[in-house]
Amino acid sequence: MKKEHSLWFPANLLAPIGVFLQEKLKKLEKRKKDVEDDDPFKDVGRLNDNASPDTDAAEQFGHARASAIEKELQAKIKQTKKALSRLKHGKYTICEDCGKMIDTDRLVAYPEATKCVKCEAKREA
Ligand SMILES: [Zn+2]
Repeated sequence: MKKEHSLWFPANLLAPIGVFLQEKLKKLEKRKKDVEDDDPFKDVGRLNDNASPDTDAAEQFGHARASAIEKELQAKIKQTKKALSRLKHGKYTICEDCGKMIDTDRLVAYPEATKCVKCEAKREA
């Protein structure tokens, strides 16, 4: 038997999704702050000491790594905020590109989704 999909997320399902996304956003922002604190370049005192070239290299690497993680977290924060805003404006479950319904299975697996599978695949192609 074919699985039935409801055309709209019922309000009693949207509320917990909103809470979930808010919680997720809080965690992402905390993690981003932790990574920023770990970034050796954020430690101003370090810039003035006479570190050996080895230490410099380690700090360069630490900074590059922290920057990469920060960038990734920032992208996730942006996506989560976008999903929350769409939820607030009653556009959650609607693909921001083609305006069609996003598959509910996809939203269950990836609640931050703002595009349907087809549009997401197009973007990544
Ligand atoms: Zn789409």
